[in-house]
Amino acid sequence: MLQVIFVTLLSFFVLPGSLIADAASQAAGIGGDMAATQNLGSVPTAFLVIISTIFACSVYALRKQSVHERENYLLAYTNRLTNLPNFGWFEYEIPSIIRKYSLEREAGKLFIVKMKSQRLESLKSTYDRDSIVKGIVELTKKLREENSWIRELSISSEMSQLYLLCCLPDGMTHEEAGMKIVSDGDAMHVGSYSFRMKYSAGIAKVPSNGDFDIVDLMNAADTARVAATDKKETVGIYNEEIRKKKLLQKSIENLAPKALANGEFKVWLQPKYDILRQQTVGAEALVRWQSPELGFLMPVSFIGLFEKNGFIIELDYYMLEQAFKIQQERLAAGMRVVPISVNQSGLHSSESGYLQRMRTIADKYGLPKGSIDLEITETVFVDFETKESRESTVRAVDELRNMGFTVSMDDFCTGYSSIAMLQNLSVDVMKIDRAMLVAAEESERGRRLLREVIRMGKSMDMQVLCEGIEKREHEALLIENGCTYGQGFYFKKPAPAEEFFRILDSFGGTR
Ligand code: C2E
Ligand code: MG
Ligand code: MG
Repeated sequence: MLQVIFVTLLSFFVLPGSLIADAASQAAGIGGDMAATQNLGSVPTAFLVIISTIFACSVYALRKQSVHERENYLLAYTNRLTNLPNFGWFEYEIPSIIRKYSLEREAGKLFIVKMKSQRLESLKSTYDRDSIVKGIVELTKKLREENSWIRELSISSEMSQLYLLCCLPDGMTHEEAGMKIVSDGDAMHVGSYSFRMKYSAGIAKVPSNGDFDIVDLMNAADTARVAATDKKETVGIYNEEIRKKKLLQKSIENLAPKALANGEFKVWLQPKYDILRQQTVGAEALVRWQSPELGFLMPVSFIGLFEKNGFIIELDYYMLEQAFKIQQERLAAGMRVVPISVNQSGLHSSESGYLQRMRTIADKYGLPKGSIDLEITETVFVDFETKESRESTVRAVDELRNMGFTVSMDDFCTGYSSIAMLQNLSVDVMKIDRAMLVAAEESERGRRLLREVIRMGKSMDMQVLCEGIEKREHEALLIENGCTYGQGFYFKKPAPAEEFFRILDSFGGTR
Protein backbone atom coordinates (compact mmCIF):
# COMPACT_ATOMS: atom_id res chain seq x y z
CA MET A 1 0.00 0.00 0.00
CA LEU A 2 2.81 2.37 0.95
CA GLN A 3 4.41 1.82 -2.42
CA VAL A 4 1.21 2.76 -4.20
CA ILE A 5 0.90 6.00 -2.23
CA PHE A 6 4.55 6.78 -2.92
CA VAL A 7 4.18 6.20 -6.66
CA THR A 8 0.96 8.21 -6.82
CA LEU A 9 2.68 11.14 -5.16
CA LEU A 10 5.68 10.74 -7.43
CA SER A 11 3.46 10.85 -10.51
CA PHE A 12 1.66 13.84 -9.13
CA PHE A 13 4.85 15.89 -8.76
CA VAL A 14 6.93 14.67 -11.69
CA LEU A 15 4.33 14.36 -14.44
CA PRO A 16 2.88 17.92 -14.23
CA GLY A 17 6.44 19.34 -14.21
CA SER A 18 7.24 17.85 -17.58
CA LEU A 19 3.94 19.02 -19.01
CA ILE A 20 4.59 22.61 -17.77
CA ALA A 21 8.07 22.54 -19.31
CA ASP A 22 6.49 21.36 -22.53
CA ALA A 23 3.91 24.14 -22.57
CA ALA A 24 6.47 26.83 -21.67
CA SER A 25 8.80 25.88 -24.46
CA GLN A 26 5.97 25.99 -26.95
CA ALA A 27 4.77 29.41 -25.68
CA ALA A 28 8.30 30.88 -25.95
CA GLY A 29 8.32 29.90 -29.60
CA ILE A 30 11.48 28.02 -29.24
CA GLY A 31 12.35 26.14 -32.44
CA GLY A 32 11.52 22.64 -33.34
CA ASP A 33 14.90 21.20 -32.19
CA MET A 34 14.63 22.64 -28.73
CA ALA A 35 10.99 21.52 -28.43
CA ALA A 36 11.99 18.04 -29.55
CA THR A 37 14.65 17.98 -26.84
CA GLN A 38 12.10 19.02 -24.22
CA ASN A 39 9.66 16.32 -25.42
CA LEU A 40 12.44 13.75 -25.26
CA GLY A 41 13.14 14.87 -21.70
CA SER A 42 9.54 14.03 -20.67
CA VAL A 43 9.75 10.47 -22.10
CA PRO A 44 12.11 9.06 -19.44
CA THR A 45 10.04 10.74 -16.73
CA ALA A 46 6.81 9.15 -17.96
CA PHE A 47 8.63 5.90 -18.45
CA LEU A 48 9.93 6.10 -14.87
CA VAL A 49 6.44 6.70 -13.62
CA ILE A 50 5.05 3.71 -15.48
CA ILE A 51 7.86 1.43 -14.33
CA SER A 52 7.50 2.66 -10.76
CA THR A 53 3.78 2.06 -10.87
CA ILE A 54 4.24 -1.46 -12.21
CA PHE A 55 6.92 -2.12 -9.64
CA ALA A 56 4.81 -0.79 -6.81
CA CYS A 57 1.79 -2.74 -7.90
CA SER A 58 3.88 -5.92 -8.14
CA VAL A 59 5.35 -5.41 -4.70
CA TYR A 60 1.88 -4.74 -3.34
CA ALA A 61 0.45 -7.84 -5.00
CA LEU A 62 3.34 -9.98 -3.75
CA ARG A 63 2.92 -8.60 -0.26
CA LYS A 64 -0.76 -9.30 -0.34
CA GLN A 65 -0.16 -12.79 -1.65
CA SER A 66 2.37 -13.53 1.07
CA VAL A 67 -0.01 -12.24 3.75
CA HIS A 68 -2.67 -14.46 2.23
CA GLU A 69 -0.31 -17.43 2.15
CA ARG A 70 0.67 -16.80 5.75
CA GLU A 71 -2.99 -16.78 6.72
CA ASN A 72 -3.58 -20.04 4.84
CA TYR A 73 -0.48 -21.55 6.42
CA LEU A 74 -1.68 -20.66 9.91
CA LEU A 75 -5.15 -21.92 9.12
CA ALA A 76 -3.83 -25.21 7.81
CA TYR A 77 -1.12 -25.83 10.37
CA THR A 78 -2.51 -24.48 13.63
CA ASN A 79 -4.85 -26.11 16.08
CA ARG A 80 -7.78 -23.71 16.10
CA LEU A 81 -8.54 -24.06 19.81
CA THR A 82 -5.09 -23.93 21.38
CA ASN A 83 -3.19 -22.00 18.69
CA LEU A 84 -0.51 -24.69 18.90
CA PRO A 85 0.96 -26.29 15.76
CA ASN A 86 -1.08 -29.25 14.57
CA PHE A 87 -0.06 -32.67 13.22
CA GLY A 88 -0.11 -31.35 9.62
CA TRP A 89 2.51 -28.82 10.66
CA PHE A 90 4.60 -31.53 12.28
CA GLU A 91 4.57 -33.61 9.13
CA TYR A 92 5.34 -30.60 6.91
CA GLU A 93 7.99 -28.78 8.93
CA ILE A 94 9.82 -31.38 11.00
CA PRO A 95 11.96 -32.75 8.13
CA SER A 96 13.58 -29.33 7.59
CA ILE A 97 13.84 -28.72 11.34
CA ILE A 98 15.62 -32.07 11.71
CA ARG A 99 18.06 -30.96 9.01
CA LYS A 100 18.93 -27.95 11.17
CA TYR A 101 19.80 -30.23 14.08
CA SER A 102 22.33 -32.17 12.02
CA LEU A 103 24.88 -32.57 14.84
CA GLU A 104 22.29 -33.94 17.28
CA ARG A 105 20.96 -36.19 14.56
CA GLU A 106 24.38 -37.61 13.77
CA ALA A 107 24.86 -38.29 17.48
CA GLY A 108 21.64 -40.34 17.39
CA LYS A 109 19.93 -38.06 19.87
CA LEU A 110 16.81 -37.00 17.99
CA PHE A 111 13.58 -38.86 18.55
CA ILE A 112 9.87 -38.49 18.00
CA VAL A 113 7.35 -39.03 20.77
CA LYS A 114 3.66 -39.76 20.31
CA MET A 115 1.55 -39.29 23.45
CA LYS A 116 -2.11 -39.96 23.96
CA SER A 117 -4.18 -39.11 27.00
CA GLN A 118 -6.77 -41.64 28.04
CA ARG A 119 -8.61 -39.17 30.24
CA LEU A 120 -9.27 -36.17 28.06
CA GLU A 121 -12.45 -37.45 26.43
CA SER A 122 -14.17 -38.02 29.76
CA LEU A 123 -13.04 -34.59 31.01
CA LYS A 124 -14.45 -33.00 27.86
CA SER A 125 -17.84 -34.43 28.59
CA THR A 126 -17.82 -32.92 32.09
CA TYR A 127 -16.08 -29.54 31.83
CA ASP A 128 -16.53 -26.55 29.53
CA ARG A 129 -14.33 -26.32 26.48
CA ASP A 130 -12.59 -23.05 27.35
CA SER A 131 -11.37 -24.37 30.69
CA ILE A 132 -10.11 -27.55 29.07
CA VAL A 133 -8.31 -25.60 26.33
CA LYS A 134 -6.71 -23.34 28.92
CA GLY A 135 -5.62 -26.37 30.92
CA ILE A 136 -4.03 -27.97 27.88
CA VAL A 137 -2.19 -24.82 26.81
CA GLU A 138 -0.76 -24.44 30.32
CA LEU A 139 0.17 -28.09 30.44
CA THR A 140 2.08 -28.00 27.14
CA LYS A 141 3.80 -24.78 28.18
CA LYS A 142 4.94 -26.35 31.43
CA LEU A 143 6.06 -29.46 29.60
CA ARG A 144 8.36 -27.39 27.38
CA GLU A 145 9.59 -25.14 30.18
CA GLU A 146 10.61 -28.10 32.30
CA ASN A 147 12.20 -30.00 29.43
CA SER A 148 14.18 -27.73 27.16
CA TRP A 149 15.12 -30.82 25.15
CA ILE A 150 11.58 -30.95 23.76
CA ARG A 151 12.38 -29.07 20.57
CA GLU A 152 8.96 -29.01 18.90
CA LEU A 153 5.44 -29.86 19.92
CA SER A 154 2.22 -30.36 17.99
CA ILE A 155 -1.30 -31.30 19.01
CA SER A 156 -4.14 -33.26 17.40
CA SER A 157 -7.40 -31.58 16.45
CA GLU A 158 -9.30 -33.13 19.37
CA MET A 159 -6.36 -32.25 21.67
CA SER A 160 -5.85 -35.66 23.27
CA GLN A 161 -2.67 -36.49 21.36
CA LEU A 162 0.74 -34.88 20.99
CA TYR A 163 3.69 -35.41 18.68
CA LEU A 164 7.01 -34.09 19.96
CA LEU A 165 10.46 -33.76 18.46
CA CYS A 166 13.02 -34.27 21.21
CA CYS A 167 16.77 -34.32 21.66
CA LEU A 168 17.92 -36.86 24.23
CA PRO A 169 19.61 -35.08 27.16
CA ASP A 170 22.98 -36.39 28.36
CA GLY A 171 22.74 -39.09 30.98
CA MET A 172 19.15 -40.04 30.15
CA THR A 173 17.88 -43.11 28.32
CA HIS A 174 14.98 -42.95 25.86
CA GLU A 175 12.77 -44.78 28.38
CA GLU A 176 13.65 -42.25 31.10
CA ALA A 177 12.99 -39.33 28.76
CA GLY A 178 9.61 -40.83 27.81
CA MET A 179 8.68 -41.42 31.44
CA LYS A 180 9.73 -37.87 32.36
CA ILE A 181 7.49 -36.35 29.71
CA VAL A 182 4.60 -38.55 30.74
CA SER A 183 4.93 -37.66 34.41
CA ASP A 184 5.60 -33.94 33.83
CA GLY A 185 2.46 -33.69 31.71
CA ASP A 186 0.33 -35.82 33.98
CA ALA A 187 -1.42 -33.13 35.99
CA MET A 188 -3.84 -30.88 34.13
CA HIS A 189 -5.66 -28.06 35.84
CA VAL A 190 -9.23 -27.42 34.85
CA GLY A 191 -10.54 -24.45 36.77
CA SER A 192 -9.52 -25.07 40.36
CA TYR A 193 -9.33 -28.86 39.94
CA SER A 194 -6.35 -30.96 39.04
CA PHE A 195 -6.67 -34.16 36.99
CA ARG A 196 -4.37 -36.98 36.01
CA MET A 197 -4.13 -37.29 32.24
CA LYS A 198 -2.88 -40.91 32.13
CA TYR A 199 -0.84 -41.09 28.94
CA SER A 200 0.43 -43.85 26.78
CA ALA A 201 3.57 -42.88 24.85
CA GLY A 202 5.64 -44.27 22.00
CA ILE A 203 9.12 -43.31 20.87
CA ALA A 204 10.71 -43.64 17.43
CA LYS A 205 14.37 -42.70 17.04
CA VAL A 206 15.31 -40.51 14.07
CA PRO A 207 17.94 -42.46 12.09
CA SER A 208 21.36 -40.87 12.55
CA ASN A 209 21.96 -40.69 8.80
CA GLY A 210 20.39 -41.26 5.40
CA ASP A 211 16.88 -40.51 4.20
CA PHE A 212 13.86 -40.89 6.38
CA ASP A 213 10.15 -40.56 5.90
CA ILE A 214 8.53 -38.40 8.54
CA VAL A 215 5.17 -40.14 8.18
CA ASP A 216 6.86 -43.51 8.75
CA LEU A 217 8.56 -42.13 11.84
CA MET A 218 5.30 -40.72 13.21
CA ASN A 219 3.55 -44.04 12.55
CA ALA A 220 6.42 -45.93 14.19
CA ALA A 221 6.09 -43.84 17.37
CA ASP A 222 2.36 -44.53 17.41
CA THR A 223 2.88 -48.26 16.80
CA ALA A 224 5.31 -48.34 19.74
CA ARG A 225 2.69 -46.59 21.86
CA VAL A 226 0.00 -49.13 20.96
CA ALA A 227 2.43 -52.02 21.58
CA ALA A 228 3.19 -50.59 25.03
CA THR A 229 -0.52 -50.23 25.80
CA ASP A 230 -1.10 -53.86 24.80
CA LYS A 231 1.57 -54.86 27.31
CA LYS A 232 -0.01 -52.57 29.95
CA GLU A 233 3.11 -50.40 29.89
CA THR A 234 3.26 -46.60 29.71
CA VAL A 235 6.15 -45.97 27.32
CA GLY A 236 7.20 -48.11 24.36
CA ILE A 237 10.17 -47.76 22.04
CA TYR A 238 9.92 -48.76 18.41
CA ASN A 239 12.32 -51.61 17.70
CA GLU A 240 12.91 -54.54 15.40
CA GLU A 241 10.54 -56.78 17.35
CA ILE A 242 7.69 -54.31 17.01
CA ARG A 243 8.50 -53.79 13.33
CA LYS A 244 8.29 -57.55 12.68
CA LYS A 245 5.09 -57.84 14.69
CA LYS A 246 3.53 -55.02 12.72
CA LEU A 247 4.55 -56.66 9.45
CA LEU A 248 3.05 -59.96 10.63
CA GLN A 249 -0.17 -58.18 11.56
CA LYS A 250 -0.32 -56.62 8.10
CA SER A 251 0.16 -60.06 6.50
CA ILE A 252 -2.50 -61.56 8.78
CA GLU A 253 -4.96 -58.86 7.77
CA ASN A 254 -4.12 -59.16 4.07
CA LEU A 255 -4.25 -62.96 4.00
CA ALA A 256 -7.42 -63.39 6.06
CA PRO A 257 -10.07 -63.08 3.31
CA LYS A 258 -8.22 -65.56 1.09
CA ALA A 259 -7.76 -67.90 4.06
CA LEU A 260 -11.47 -67.82 4.80
CA ALA A 261 -12.32 -68.59 1.17
CA ASN A 262 -9.77 -71.46 1.09
CA GLY A 263 -10.90 -73.11 4.32
CA GLU A 264 -7.65 -72.43 6.17
CA PHE A 265 -9.52 -71.72 9.41
CA LYS A 266 -10.12 -75.00 11.23
CA VAL A 267 -12.59 -76.01 13.88
CA TRP A 268 -10.90 -77.48 16.92
CA LEU A 269 -13.07 -78.88 19.66
CA GLN A 270 -12.55 -79.08 23.40
CA PRO A 271 -14.94 -81.22 25.48
CA LYS A 272 -17.22 -79.79 28.12
CA TYR A 273 -17.70 -82.56 30.61
CA ASP A 274 -19.63 -83.85 33.58
CA ILE A 275 -16.98 -83.88 36.30
CA LEU A 276 -18.65 -86.57 38.43
CA ARG A 277 -19.28 -88.97 35.57
CA GLN A 278 -16.14 -87.99 33.64
CA GLN A 279 -18.26 -87.91 30.48
CA THR A 280 -18.24 -85.48 27.55
CA VAL A 281 -21.49 -83.54 27.42
CA GLY A 282 -20.64 -80.91 24.80
CA ALA A 283 -17.79 -79.18 23.02
CA GLU A 284 -16.49 -75.69 22.43
CA ALA A 285 -15.42 -74.80 18.89
CA LEU A 286 -12.11 -72.95 19.00
CA VAL A 287 -10.65 -71.59 15.80
CA ARG A 288 -7.15 -72.42 14.56
CA TRP A 289 -5.55 -71.05 11.39
CA GLN A 290 -3.47 -73.41 9.28
CA SER A 291 -1.85 -70.86 6.97
CA PRO A 292 0.46 -71.95 4.10
CA GLU A 293 2.27 -68.60 4.42
CA LEU A 294 2.30 -68.01 8.18
CA GLY A 295 2.16 -71.50 9.66
CA PHE A 296 -0.15 -72.71 12.44
CA LEU A 297 -1.70 -69.81 14.33
CA MET A 298 -3.57 -69.75 17.66
CA PRO A 299 -6.48 -67.33 18.21
CA VAL A 300 -4.34 -65.04 20.34
CA SER A 301 -2.37 -64.07 17.18
CA PHE A 302 -5.36 -62.94 15.16
CA ILE A 303 -8.65 -62.63 17.10
CA GLY A 304 -7.71 -59.24 18.59
CA LEU A 305 -6.75 -57.92 15.14
CA PHE A 306 -9.96 -59.19 13.58
CA GLU A 307 -11.93 -57.58 16.41
CA LYS A 308 -10.28 -54.28 15.46
CA ASN A 309 -10.79 -54.51 11.70
CA GLY A 310 -14.20 -56.19 11.89
CA PHE A 311 -13.19 -59.40 10.10
CA ILE A 312 -14.18 -61.40 13.20
CA ILE A 313 -17.80 -61.04 12.13
CA GLU A 314 -17.25 -63.09 8.97
CA LEU A 315 -15.00 -65.55 10.78
CA ASP A 316 -17.67 -66.13 13.43
CA TYR A 317 -20.29 -66.88 10.76
CA TYR A 318 -17.86 -69.28 9.14
CA MET A 319 -17.25 -71.12 12.42
CA LEU A 320 -20.97 -71.18 13.11
CA GLU A 321 -21.73 -72.74 9.72
CA GLN A 322 -18.94 -75.29 10.18
CA ALA A 323 -20.49 -76.28 13.53
CA PHE A 324 -23.93 -76.58 11.91
CA LYS A 325 -22.48 -78.73 9.10
CA ILE A 326 -20.76 -81.06 11.58
CA GLN A 327 -23.99 -81.53 13.54
CA GLN A 328 -26.06 -82.03 10.40
CA GLU A 329 -23.68 -84.69 9.05
CA ARG A 330 -23.55 -86.58 12.33
CA LEU A 331 -27.31 -86.50 12.71
CA ALA A 332 -27.77 -87.71 9.15
CA ALA A 333 -25.30 -90.55 9.81
CA GLY A 334 -27.11 -91.48 13.05
CA MET A 335 -24.04 -90.72 15.17
CA ARG A 336 -23.99 -89.34 18.70
CA VAL A 337 -24.45 -85.60 18.81
CA VAL A 338 -23.37 -83.33 21.67
CA PRO A 339 -24.07 -79.59 21.67
CA ILE A 340 -21.32 -77.51 20.06
CA SER A 341 -20.64 -74.03 21.42
CA VAL A 342 -19.34 -71.31 19.14
CA ASN A 343 -17.90 -68.01 20.34
CA GLN A 344 -19.64 -64.79 19.35
CA SER A 345 -17.61 -61.63 19.20
CA GLY A 346 -18.94 -58.55 20.96
CA LEU A 347 -18.99 -56.81 17.58
CA HIS A 348 -22.20 -58.66 16.68
CA SER A 349 -24.05 -56.62 19.26
CA SER A 350 -23.71 -53.58 17.02
CA GLU A 351 -23.87 -55.40 13.68
CA SER A 352 -26.94 -54.47 11.69
CA GLY A 353 -28.87 -57.48 10.46
CA TYR A 354 -27.21 -59.85 12.97
CA LEU A 355 -30.41 -61.48 14.18
CA GLN A 356 -31.75 -61.83 10.64
CA ARG A 357 -28.56 -63.52 9.47
CA MET A 358 -28.55 -65.85 12.48
CA ARG A 359 -32.15 -66.80 11.76
CA THR A 360 -31.34 -67.50 8.10
CA ILE A 361 -28.51 -69.84 9.10
CA ALA A 362 -30.57 -71.58 11.79
CA ASP A 363 -33.46 -72.09 9.33
CA LYS A 364 -31.12 -73.37 6.61
CA TYR A 365 -29.96 -76.31 8.75
CA GLY A 366 -33.13 -76.82 10.78
CA LEU A 367 -31.37 -78.73 13.57
CA PRO A 368 -33.05 -79.74 16.87
CA LYS A 369 -33.05 -77.02 19.53
CA GLY A 370 -29.89 -76.88 21.59
CA SER A 371 -27.61 -78.39 18.93
CA ILE A 372 -25.69 -75.13 18.77
CA ASP A 373 -24.81 -73.02 21.78
CA LEU A 374 -23.58 -69.42 21.51
CA GLU A 375 -20.91 -68.21 23.90
CA ILE A 376 -21.19 -64.51 24.50
CA THR A 377 -18.91 -62.47 26.70
CA GLU A 378 -20.53 -60.30 29.30
CA THR A 379 -18.05 -57.45 28.99
CA VAL A 380 -18.29 -56.93 25.25
CA PHE A 381 -21.58 -58.39 24.10
CA VAL A 382 -23.66 -57.11 26.93
CA ASP A 383 -23.93 -53.36 27.08
CA PHE A 384 -25.74 -52.15 30.16
CA GLU A 385 -24.89 -48.47 29.78
CA THR A 386 -28.30 -47.23 28.83
CA LYS A 387 -31.81 -48.54 29.35
CA GLU A 388 -32.23 -48.85 25.55
CA SER A 389 -29.05 -50.86 25.01
CA ARG A 390 -29.90 -53.06 27.98
CA GLU A 391 -33.34 -53.76 26.58
CA SER A 392 -32.07 -54.41 23.09
CA THR A 393 -29.49 -56.92 24.42
CA VAL A 394 -32.20 -58.70 26.42
CA ARG A 395 -34.40 -58.84 23.30
CA ALA A 396 -31.55 -60.11 21.12
CA VAL A 397 -30.70 -62.92 23.55
CA ASP A 398 -34.36 -63.90 23.82
CA GLU A 399 -34.66 -64.00 20.04
CA LEU A 400 -31.54 -66.14 19.68
CA ARG A 401 -33.01 -68.60 22.15
CA ASN A 402 -36.30 -68.60 20.21
CA MET A 403 -34.33 -69.53 17.10
CA GLY A 404 -33.19 -72.69 18.88
CA PHE A 405 -29.76 -71.61 20.13
CA THR A 406 -28.82 -71.98 23.74
CA VAL A 407 -26.76 -69.14 25.17
CA SER A 408 -23.75 -69.31 27.48
CA MET A 409 -22.25 -66.39 29.32
CA ASP A 410 -18.52 -66.85 28.70
CA ASP A 411 -15.74 -65.71 31.04
CA PHE A 412 -18.20 -64.98 33.83
CA CYS A 413 -16.72 -62.85 36.62
CA THR A 414 -14.11 -61.12 34.48
CA GLY A 415 -16.23 -58.04 33.78
CA TYR A 416 -18.05 -55.52 35.88
CA SER A 417 -21.56 -56.32 34.77
CA SER A 418 -21.82 -59.92 35.98
CA ILE A 419 -24.48 -59.33 38.60
CA ALA A 420 -26.43 -56.87 36.44
CA MET A 421 -26.38 -59.53 33.73
CA LEU A 422 -27.97 -62.08 36.04
CA GLN A 423 -30.72 -59.64 36.82
CA ASN A 424 -31.55 -58.94 33.19
CA LEU A 425 -30.65 -61.79 30.88
CA SER A 426 -32.01 -65.29 30.64
CA VAL A 427 -29.05 -67.39 29.60
CA ASP A 428 -28.71 -71.15 29.78
CA VAL A 429 -25.16 -71.61 30.94
CA MET A 430 -22.85 -69.70 33.26
CA LYS A 431 -19.21 -70.32 32.26
CA ILE A 432 -17.11 -69.26 35.21
CA ASP A 433 -13.74 -67.88 34.16
CA ARG A 434 -10.58 -69.72 35.05
CA ALA A 435 -9.45 -66.73 37.13
CA MET A 436 -12.11 -67.62 39.75
CA LEU A 437 -10.74 -71.12 40.02
CA VAL A 438 -7.20 -69.84 40.47
CA ALA A 439 -8.39 -67.36 43.13
CA ALA A 440 -10.26 -70.16 44.94
CA GLU A 441 -7.10 -72.23 44.95
CA GLU A 442 -5.18 -69.40 46.55
CA SER A 443 -7.38 -68.20 49.40
CA GLU A 444 -10.35 -68.94 51.58
CA ARG A 445 -11.99 -65.72 50.41
CA GLY A 446 -11.59 -66.88 46.81
CA ARG A 447 -13.16 -70.24 47.69
CA ARG A 448 -16.12 -68.58 49.38
CA LEU A 449 -16.64 -66.34 46.36
CA LEU A 450 -16.52 -69.29 43.97
CA ARG A 451 -19.03 -71.21 46.11
CA GLU A 452 -21.45 -68.26 46.16
CA VAL A 453 -21.16 -67.64 42.42
CA ILE A 454 -21.93 -71.30 41.70
CA ARG A 455 -24.89 -71.19 44.09
CA MET A 456 -26.17 -67.98 42.50
CA GLY A 457 -25.95 -69.44 38.98
CA LYS A 458 -27.87 -72.54 39.99
CA SER A 459 -30.54 -70.55 41.79
CA MET A 460 -31.10 -68.69 38.51
CA ASP A 461 -31.73 -72.04 36.80
CA MET A 462 -28.49 -71.94 34.86
CA GLN A 463 -26.18 -74.79 34.16
CA VAL A 464 -22.90 -73.85 35.83
CA LEU A 465 -19.60 -74.83 34.22
CA CYS A 466 -16.08 -73.82 35.20
CA GLU A 467 -13.31 -73.24 32.65
CA GLY A 468 -9.60 -73.96 32.93
CA ILE A 469 -9.49 -77.17 34.98
CA GLU A 470 -5.85 -78.17 34.88
CA LYS A 471 -5.53 -80.71 37.69
CA ARG A 472 -7.38 -83.17 39.88
CA GLU A 473 -7.45 -80.68 42.78
CA HIS A 474 -9.42 -78.25 40.61
CA GLU A 475 -12.04 -80.90 39.95
CA ALA A 476 -12.22 -81.70 43.68
CA LEU A 477 -12.58 -78.03 44.56
CA LEU A 478 -15.43 -77.62 42.08
CA ILE A 479 -17.31 -80.72 43.20
CA GLU A 480 -16.92 -79.62 46.81
CA ASN A 481 -18.51 -76.30 45.92
CA GLY A 482 -21.35 -77.71 43.87
CA CYS A 483 -20.12 -77.22 40.28
CA THR A 484 -20.37 -80.44 38.32
CA TYR A 485 -19.59 -79.28 34.76
CA GLY A 486 -16.15 -78.32 33.57
CA GLN A 487 -13.76 -77.73 30.72
CA GLY A 488 -10.00 -77.82 30.82
CA PHE A 489 -6.70 -79.32 29.82
CA TYR A 490 -6.96 -81.90 32.62
CA PHE A 491 -9.87 -83.65 30.89
CA LYS A 492 -8.85 -82.88 27.33
CA LYS A 493 -7.05 -80.17 25.35
CA PRO A 494 -8.69 -78.72 22.25
CA ALA A 495 -8.11 -81.01 19.24
CA PRO A 496 -9.04 -81.07 15.54
CA ALA A 497 -12.74 -81.89 15.12
CA GLU A 498 -11.98 -85.33 13.58
CA GLU A 499 -9.85 -86.30 16.58
CA PHE A 500 -12.49 -85.12 19.04
CA PHE A 501 -15.13 -87.29 17.34
CA ARG A 502 -12.81 -90.27 17.02
CA ILE A 503 -12.49 -90.27 20.82
CA LEU A 504 -16.19 -89.53 21.35
CA ASP A 505 -17.19 -92.37 19.04
CA SER A 506 -14.71 -94.97 20.27
CA PHE A 507 -14.59 -94.29 24.03
CA GLY A 508 -17.92 -92.52 24.53
CA GLY A 509 -16.13 -89.29 25.37
CA THR A 510 -14.54 -90.37 28.65
CA ARG A 511 -11.08 -89.27 29.65
P1 C2E B 1 -12.57 -68.77 25.40
O1 C2E B 1 -13.81 -68.71 24.60
O2 C2E B 1 -12.66 -68.42 26.83
O3 C2E B 1 -11.98 -70.22 25.20
C1 C2E B 1 -11.32 -70.93 26.17
C2 C2E B 1 -9.85 -70.80 26.02
O4 C2E B 1 -9.24 -71.40 27.16
C3 C2E B 1 -9.32 -71.53 24.81
O5 C2E B 1 -8.18 -70.86 24.34
C4 C2E B 1 -8.88 -72.84 25.43
O6 C2E B 1 -7.90 -73.52 24.68
C5 C2E B 1 -8.33 -72.36 26.74
N1 C2E B 1 -8.32 -73.43 27.72
C6 C2E B 1 -9.08 -74.53 27.78
N2 C2E B 1 -8.77 -75.28 28.86
C7 C2E B 1 -7.79 -74.62 29.51
C8 C2E B 1 -7.01 -74.90 30.70
O7 C2E B 1 -7.18 -75.88 31.38
N3 C2E B 1 -6.09 -73.95 31.05
C9 C2E B 1 -5.88 -72.86 30.34
N4 C2E B 1 -4.94 -72.01 30.75
N5 C2E B 1 -6.57 -72.56 29.19
C10 C2E B 1 -7.52 -73.45 28.80
P2 C2E B 1 -7.97 -70.59 22.80
O8 C2E B 1 -8.42 -71.72 21.97
O9 C2E B 1 -6.57 -70.10 22.64
O10 C2E B 1 -8.96 -69.40 22.54
C11 C2E B 1 -8.78 -68.18 23.18
C12 C2E B 1 -9.93 -67.28 22.99
O11 C2E B 1 -10.08 -66.92 21.63
C13 C2E B 1 -11.26 -67.92 23.37
O12 C2E B 1 -11.44 -67.83 24.74
C14 C2E B 1 -12.21 -67.02 22.62
O13 C2E B 1 -12.47 -65.85 23.33
C15 C2E B 1 -11.44 -66.68 21.37
N6 C2E B 1 -11.88 -67.50 20.26
C16 C2E B 1 -11.51 -68.74 19.88
N7 C2E B 1 -12.19 -69.12 18.78
C17 C2E B 1 -13.03 -68.10 18.46
C18 C2E B 1 -14.01 -67.87 17.42
O14 C2E B 1 -14.29 -68.70 16.55
N8 C2E B 1 -14.67 -66.68 17.44
C19 C2E B 1 -14.42 -65.75 18.40
N9 C2E B 1 -15.12 -64.60 18.35
N10 C2E B 1 -13.52 -65.92 19.37
C20 C2E B 1 -12.84 -67.09 19.40
MG1 MG C 1 -15.58 -69.39 24.81
MG1 MG D 1 -13.91 -68.43 28.28
